[in-house]
Amino acid sequence: MASITLKNVVKQYHQGKQSLQVIHGVNAEIADGEFIVIVGPSGCGKSTLLRMVAGLEEISGGDIMIGPRVVNQLEPAERDIAMVFQNYALYPHMSVFDNMAYGLKIAKVPVDEIKARVDKAAGILELGHLLERKPRQLSGGQRQRVAMGRAIVRQPQVFLFDEPLSNLDAKLRAQTRLEIQKLHRELGITSLFVTHDQVEAMTLAQRMIVMNAGNMEQFGTPEEVYARPATTFVASFMGAPP
Ligand code: ADP
Ligand code: MG
Repeated sequence: MASITLKNVVKQYHQGKQSLQVIHGVNAEIADGEFIVIVGPSGCGKSTLLRMVAGLEEISGGDIMIGPRVVNQLEPAERDIAMVFQNYALYPHMSVFDNMAYGLKIAKVPVDEIKARVDKAAGILELGHLLERKPRQLSGGQRQRVAMGRAIVRQPQVFLFDEPLSNLDAKLRAQTRLEIQKLHRELGITSLFVTHDQVEAMTLAQRMIVMNAGNMEQFGTPEEVYARPATTFVASFMGAPP
């Protein structure tokens, strides 16, 4: 596990001669083991911020630290993070076990260790009876759990979630939300979870970052944000019906 520090993080995208600043200096200190939700309307920069923490997008200014390390220049694989996306592409020809084991095989983790880690993850995610199946023989929710299992087995210091529930129907979304909470209770891995859904944010967050147009409008517990919104944007966004 590790803390995450964002120091005046800036992002500019360049298109030809034009440059467009989409993140305007975000500061946040996230403690070891916290579950943080980044919430805000579509286009406000949530994915960009998350992708910079992941190392999938270069930062244009400031620093990102994971634990004591400044990771600005590190490749994604060197950052000790695992990411769960909305579109959880599984390998269709591989079993559930092999899907979860694949990254570890590539990393040359010993076979016994791979089996132990996959079994542990399958236990937490209730996938133990499905390890021999192929993705097409699973429900949408089960597939999403395999995608999470694939992230867990890597034993990352940090989990990054980018709207992992938005492709699921309401019932499955609620169920998967409970699974993510259980996962966090059991493993306590520092997590950044992005969503545009206020209700999802309120239910999952220990603390939440409310974003608007590339700025962090407020960083606080759901109770603080709801009861004492820092700006009129936060008040109207959090007060709006889901
Ligand atoms: P969110 O995830 O909150 O919906 P994004 O981080 O995807 O927002 O996008 C933030 C802003 O950056 C948007 O205005 C978007 O159009 C812009 N943007 C995202 N990716 C790129 C890119 N590769 N090139 C140029 N602009 C981008
Ligand atoms: Mg996004």
